[in-house]
Order: sequence, then structure tokens, then C-alpha cells
Amino acid sequence: MNSKDYIQEIITQVEKRNPNEVEFNHAVKEVLNSLEPYFNRNPHLINKGILERIVEPERQIYFRVAWLDDLGKVQVNRGLRVQFNSALGPYKGGLRFHPSVNQSIIKFLGFEQIFKNALTTLPMGGGKGGSDFNPKGKSDNEIMRFCQAFMSELYRHIGSDVDVPAGDIGVGAREIGYMYGYYKKIQNLHTQGVLTGKGILYGGSLVRTQATGYGLVYFVENMLNDINETFKNKQVVVSGSGNVAIYAIEKAQSLGAKVIACSDSNGYIYDKNGLDLNVIKKIKEVNRGRISDYLIDIPNATYVEGFRNIWSIPCDIALPCATQDELDLDSAKQLVKNGCKIVAEGANMPCTQEAVNYFLKHSVYFGPGKAANAGGVATSGLEMSQNSLRLSWTFEEVDQKLKQIMNEIYQSAKTTAVNYNDPNNLVLGANIAGFNKVAQAMLAQGIL
Ligand code: NDP
Repeated sequence: MNSKDYIQEIITQVEKRNPNEVEFNHAVKEVLNSLEPYFNRNPHLINKGILERIVEPERQIYFRVAWLDDLGKVQVNRGLRVQFNSALGPYKGGLRFHPSVNQSIIKFLGFEQIFKNALTTLPMGGGKGGSDFNPKGKSDNEIMRFCQAFMSELYRHIGSDVDVPAGDIGVGAREIGYMYGYYKKIQNLHTQGVLTGKGILYGGSLVRTQATGYGLVYFVENMLNDINETFKNKQVVVSGSGNVAIYAIEKAQSLGAKVIACSDSNGYIYDKNGLDLNVIKKIKEVNRGRISDYLIDIPNATYVEGFRNIWSIPCDIALPCATQDELDLDSAKQLVKNGCKIVAEGANMPCTQEAVNYFLKHSVYFGPGKAANAGGVATSGLEMSQNSLRLSWTFEEVDQKLKQIMNEIYQSAKTTAVNYNDPNNLVLGANIAGFNKVAQAMLAQGIL
């Protein structure tokens, strides 16, 4: 069988086995379709069952999460953890709390995580989890009770050498703190390596909060460097205003970029003078408010309802940092028409496949999420190392290591793309580089 037929056979099998899992099928197709040149060069791997195994999670855990709301009413949510692949190390990946969470979304995120973690060069397998719990509008006590109820089941399945969850959408330092505290209590164990994204006082790493956003900008610096450009005076649009977006804005601004817009799920703000990040941090990190509140402090800015239209703003660099499928073909066309030169994904799979294809065809230099946003999990890996050593590195030490890892991820994707005669295709470069590591480890460990 040739590579093309082999890949198509696996894609068809995945679609048949996982009907209605739109996001998961999309992620599998995106990775597998870019592996054809790899299997053309390595035809002896076609009958080793690598793809057949890599698309099937090693383990999936579903559980009921029952908790009491402030009115004394019992609420029930679903908890989920997908332990996808442990060839390179313990399962590692975030927890997402959002009403949209379902099996397809967690599987797509877990699948992506396998290759992203491989690219970091740290010993981490791939996993992901979460719940359809909606943290919006909940009191602090409700958040705590939910996190404790969630951990009262998850604890059985995780551990510093087994599976190490972290944050994602809706799960930040507060939620990790509540979950870590409960784990410690019911296990009677201060085993810091069981979760990452912890507070600094109890085993967290400096820079973890900033890591995904900073890492994204370090990755884009590499892209700019290759086209003899820098961030200086570039107009940048960032979607979202959560953890990834805020620290991408911070680092881009510190490198001289003018960031003119960001959003939340209701709409976007445009400030032609450049965003005031202190105002955004106050709204999102302190008040947990809406991005439209920006106008209270900066009345000259503009607020527009509907977050998708943010891509109609002319810019040099676009950084989608909110959620999956937020940038579609129409948005891609607008960005290209307005002269955007670089798009890099801070979020996981924010660009639809059609949008990515359009960028590649129209010479927009495109940084795929599994490479560009790997700084978060890389720093989680550094947090695990510090926990094992029982040491804390300084902010500068961790930041330096993060920068080094992002440079290496870029070089690995770029070199692979060049090696496969498609030098500007970092999608192909990242997918093949990440896949090759996992495939070699799986081969070495036998049929499992
Ligand atoms: P946060 O919860 O901190 O922020 C998410 C942001 O995206 C918010 O501004 C939110 O707006 C917006 N958003 C969420 N859902 C939607 C939606 N359905 N439509 C439009 N906007 C939405 O999450 P993070 O910043 O941590 O994560 C953002 C993305 O980055 C996700 O794709 C995540 O998987 C990815 N990522 C995160 C990493 C991390 O270290 N945190 C690591 C690697 C990837 P609102 O407040 O209105 O909901």
C-alpha cells in the first residue's frame, strides 16, 4: 500500500469510529494529511501500525461531578480526562472548564498535545481533560466546591509519573490552587509534580503564567527574523483577552509592536493608539469583567459586538489567542487583502483548515499552534523539573529556558520543512518533526 492510500484508510476509519466528533476528525486529518511525504521516505513504517495506534487514546475516563451551588441546589456536570499517548513520558495537558466541552473537543486537544509536547523536547506524553462546567457568573465558593468535587474523582487517575494536568480555558491559578489543595488533603501527599500552573508559594514556576503568550511572541520573533524583520512598529491584532492573549500583548509591546485590538467572546476593542494593557489586566484579571469595559477608561477606543470581525482590522501580524475555529476562510481573505504578513496561533486550532490553506497559498507566513503555543506546556515541563529537584529557578532563568525552547521548536519545524522541500510550510515541518519523535519511541517500546 502506498502512503496516500494508507493515510486515507486511517482517516476513513477514524471518521467511521468517531462519527459526529467534528473537532477530533479535523485535527486527525490535519496531522495525517501532512505526513504523506514522511511515509514516502519511510515506507517500511507503513505496516508497523503506528497511525492505527496513535489516533486511538490509550485511556478515556468519564465521571460525574456533583456539587452544591450557593442556593443549596445539587448541580451535576461531566468530567473527562483523555490519556492519549504516553510514549514520551507521563500524560501531560490542560483541563478546560467551558460549557462547550465534550468528547470531541477534549480528544482533539489531547491529540494535538501529543505532537506539541514532543516538539518541546521534554519527556511528556499527551493528554487533556475538562468539564462542561461554566465558571462564568459563579461565586468563588461555587468555583471551590466544583474544583473539589472534580478532584474527588480525578485524583485516582493522575500522579507526577502518571498524568500531570494543568490549566486551559476557564482554569487558571485559582482553580489549580483549589484542585491541588484537595488532592493534597485526600491523598495526604504534598506531591507537587501532580499538577502544573500552581501558585509560586506551593511549587509553581515563575513565568508559567506568562509562558504561552511570551512563547508565542518568541516563536514569531524567529519567523520575523527569517524574513529580515522585527516586531518594531508592527501593527498587531490579538484575539481573546485571557491568559494567552494578555501575555502575548505584553511581550509584543515590549518588543516595540503596536497592538491595536483584542477581544472576548462578546466583541472586540480597537484602539488606534495601541492598547493599554494595564486597563485590560484590570478588567480581566481583577474584575473578571467584559472587554467592552475598556471604554470606561479609554473612551476614545472603539468597541464592536461580535468577536469574529476583529480580523477585518488591517494589521501586519495576527495572533488568534481565543479558541478553536475562530478564524475562518472569510477572515483569512480579509487579512490577506489587508496585507497581513504573519499569522501565528496562540490558541489551539483557531484557524479553520480552509483558512490555513488560504494563508499557505497566499504567502502568509503561518505558525501552527502545536509549535507556536508550546511555550505553556514547555514551562509546565520546567515546573515539573523544579518540583523534582525541589528547587526554584529565577524568572530570568525560566524565561531564558523558555526562549531557548521556542527557538529550538522553530528551528526543528523550519529545518524539517526545508528538508521536505516546502521551506515555508511550518505546518508540515511541525507535524513531521513531532510525529517522528513519537513514532520512534512507540516503535522502540513494542506493540502496546
Ligand atoms: P482563558 O480562559 O484565559 O481566555 C480565553 C479567551 O478566549 C477569553 O478572552 C475568552 O472570552 C475567549 N473565548 C473563549 N471561548 C470563546 C469562544 N467560544 N468564542 C470566542 N471567544 C472565546 O484561556 P487561555 O488564554 O488559557 O486559552 C486560550 C487558548 O489558548 C485556548 O485555545 C487554549 O487551549 C490555548 N492554549 C492555552 C495555553 C495556556 O497555557 N493557557 C497553552 C496552549 C494553548 P470570554 O472571557 O468572553 O469567554
